[in-house]
Amino acid sequence: MSADCLFCKIAAKKIPSKIVYEDDEVFAFEDIGPQAPTHILICPRKHLGSLNEASSEDQAVLGKLQLVAAQLARKLNLLAGYRTVLNNGSGAGQSVFHLHLHLLGGRTFRWPPG
Ligand code: AMP
Ligand code: ZN
Repeated sequence: MSADCLFCKIAAKKIPSKIVYEDDEVFAFEDIGPQAPTHILICPRKHLGSLNEASSEDQAVLGKLQLVAAQLARKLNLLAGYRTVLNNGSGAGQSVFHLHLHLLGGRTFRWPPG
């Protein structure tokens, strides 16, 4: 846990959120500013500022983020089309520096993303 980190505080339930999945390695909650009808953030419990801070010891949990996204997509009937997004660095739109995978669904998506 990083003392000043918003998502570490959400994991510790010091800040309220709508948690949709959690286990001992990851937690997932509804995005407060949804960019699609379904917009969920899936995070490792371990504080990693971004993908740039990840190492080989994080390999399993990084894969798990994607598998939890697929599991939630199935549960929420998003299999017709959904997107997982991991923004890295402010130039890519990252605003919270605790690594998180966005799961977006329930609408049509364009390519390339903006
Ligand atoms: P990013 O811009 O990729 O770092 O994504 C950060 C996301 O966190 C944004 O989509 C925000 O809407 C979302 N967010 C910020 N604060 C909260 C919060 N307290 N609860 C839920 N989502 C949040
Ligand atoms: Zn954190």
